[in-house]
Amino acid sequence: MERTELLVVGCGPAGGIAAREAAAGGIECVVLEKDTVVGAKRVCAAGLRPGFCEQFDVPRSIVHCNPAWLALYDDATGCHKFEVGPAHTTTREELDGTIADLARNAGAQVRCRALFRTIAIERDRSIVEYADGNSGARRQIAARSVFFANGSTARFDADGPFAFRSWADGMLTCYQHRVYPERAAAATAYETLELHYYRTAEGRQVVGWMFPKRDHLAVGLGVVGKIEGARLRGELRDFAERIAARLYPNVPCAIKEEGHLLYGGLPRPVIAHNGVMVGGTAAGLVDATNGEGIYEAAASGRFAAEACRKFRNSATRAAAEYARAVQSKFYPRLKRRVALMHFLERKPRRFGALFEQLASTPYLRTLLEREDDRLSFAQRGYLVGQALRFAVRAI
Ligand SMILES: Cc1cc2nc3c(=O)[nH]c(=O)nc-3n(C[C@H](O)[C@H](O)[C@H](O)COP(=O)(O)OP(=O)(O)OC[C@H]3O[C@@H](n4cnc5c(N)ncnc54)[C@H](O)[C@@H]3O)c2cc1C
Repeated sequence: MERTELLVVGCGPAGGIAAREAAAGGIECVVLEKDTVVGAKRVCAAGLRPGFCEQFDVPRSIVHCNPAWLALYDDATGCHKFEVGPAHTTTREELDGTIADLARNAGAQVRCRALFRTIAIERDRSIVEYADGNSGARRQIAARSVFFANGSTARFDADGPFAFRSWADGMLTCYQHRVYPERAAAATAYETLELHYYRTAEGRQVVGWMFPKRDHLAVGLGVVGKIEGARLRGELRDFAERIAARLYPNVPCAIKEEGHLLYGGLPRPVIAHNGVMVGGTAAGLVDATNGEGIYEAAASGRFAAEACRKFRNSATRAAAEYARAVQSKFYPRLKRRVALMHFLERKPRRFGALFEQLASTPYLRTLLEREDDRLSFAQRGYLVGQALRFAVRAI
């Protein structure tokens, strides 16, 4: 049977960064990716937070636009616009494809058309079976460590260590248009990331977005739970018409439609067991308020690689170290974001109250962009004060 030190399932930002950084540290690494071309099928608005490329050493050539503004829209109070970063936009073909190339250059084997099927977790190794789409054969690999980075469609046995009953509750159905206008849209479209929070006529909460790219605009929305395809398409058509009327009125456009699931619930309670780790969206590392998860995914990949390097002789200790690092960095914030989103959704006009407060308080925005571990005691106190101020206004 083939053997490797680290087996990664999925070559999105979590799997790609884990493979690249593990291989760069001398760890033998194989990545299984089910798609034929890495990133080609990912449906995503692909907004990157300021500094992403530098932090993960990804070339700036993947960046399409550098929007300096974030515009938050809600039904009751309209638009609240303020400066950010600037943030960046790209496409997942470029982001995931570039990271996969960097991983290959570092020595990782990235195998496409390799569909993960099963895992048997043992104390000192795991046996992974996958379907090799190139040969049609089933293959097995014995790995000391395994990193699951297979995104929102990750399935784990209901009675296994990673089972999480609330997983389905966090699922959003997403649908997106890549809009290719024949002439450029209004200049503001390329300088702004737009997020829209509104209710459908039947009372479903929607998060919509318009993210600019070099040659197209990503216009899409996510709805909590499952929704019939025709209704979702109709909802997106209406939303896209509103965007078009403002940003590219009467401009003929080619449109490519695409859909996928986004996870926006609580992080998975267990993300390490023996030598097996779960990262990125498969671990539930997505900000429930805005769907951001690329940064969290890439960071979890980095943590997995670091843990494997640090505890090269003990996959169990590596996995435990990985879980500790990810949970302490991300879980408090991500759990707060889920609670905030539920609070906002109960009374939609609360969105407007929050956006007004964000727009009028630049220091609050600065602190909210920071990770918990980079906040001083005084800054945490300031955030608690702002949360109380918001609660009083919202209630
Ligand atoms: C519509 C939409 C818009 C979004 N917009 C943004 C945004 O603007 N900014 C942001 O930060 N985040 C955004 N996100 C979230 C972001 O896409 C995820 O957080 C991020 O992709 C997570 O990365 P990952 O590596 O964990 O998983 P993924 O990127 O989902 O990658 C998983 C990989 O695993 C592969 N895979 C799955 N199953 C198997 C299997 N059985 N065998 C082998 N391979 C498998 C997949 O093909 C894929 O390549 C958006 C998500 C959606 C759905």
